[in-house]
Amino acid sequence: MGRDGDAVRILVVEDEESYRDALSSGLTRQGYEVVTASDGPGGLRLFHADPPDLVLLDLLLPGMRGTDVCRRIRETSRVPVIMVSAIDSEVDVVLGLELGASDYVTKPFHLRELVARIEAVLRRVPAVPPDTPASPPAAAGGPLTPATPAPATPEGSLAFGEVVVDFDRRTVTRHGTDLHLSRRELDLLAALASPPGRVHTREDLLDLLWPGGNLVDSRTLDTHVHRLRTKIEVDPSAPHHLMTVRGVGFRLDVDTAHTARRVGDAFRPTAPPR
Ligand code: CA
Repeated sequence: MGRDGDAVRILVVEDEESYRDALSSGLTRQGYEVVTASDGPGGLRLFHADPPDLVLLDLLLPGMRGTDVCRRIRETSRVPVIMVSAIDSEVDVVLGLELGASDYVTKPFHLRELVARIEAVLRRVPAVPPDTPASPPAAAGGPLTPATPAPATPEGSLAFGEVVVDFDRRTVTRHGTDLHLSRRELDLLAALASPPGRVHTREDLLDLLWPGGNLVDSRTLDTHVHRLRTKIEVDPSAPHHLMTVRGVGFRLDVDTAHTARRVGDAFRPTAPPR
């Protein structure tokens, strides 16, 4: 339901005519009211003329990119924004920039999957309390519902390998250099560190990190795990700390056996046995 019980109004910003038409007719059949724009400036004009309940925003647009459109929208609004990208690697860009997009889909996608994501972000509670300043932007907008308590954050600091996590200051450093974890990556690390060594199931992590967003799929979690690994592991392809427990979930190992590792060890040839 949208404002005043009317149909949910979705603004589709997509330069490819075939996608734009398919989305327009498909979403209209699903009961949504759809308005479309073929570029960023046009989308912003429609957005400001009559703010929609949700924006479906293509990442690659001619001229003004989808990321810039998203930023502009976030200057004044917490409306849910679902980013659409053509290739998976762009997803890293979307998530890494912390644009405040609520979710993403990659082309090609099924209408059913898209509708599930639309319904999920419309239901989702804001990821930050309403009194938190607008920066970094909220991960989701939509109707305000009672806030779910934030994931319990461990206190103090934790060190593993060469990484030092200060949970109080929310910083993660290696050799004193900030690893620039996103809010979600830090939340994921905090969840895994409660306590270290415990196996956290995918379901638990999804519930904890995306409360109420039970239709966020496992792939989103994998993307964040991947990004966190590339930041905290010396060799992300052979992790020593953020471990996958096949078929179950993930575990953070802080075993001191690896604390002596130095960058480059993975590539240093070992002496042949004599
Ligand atoms: Ca495009």
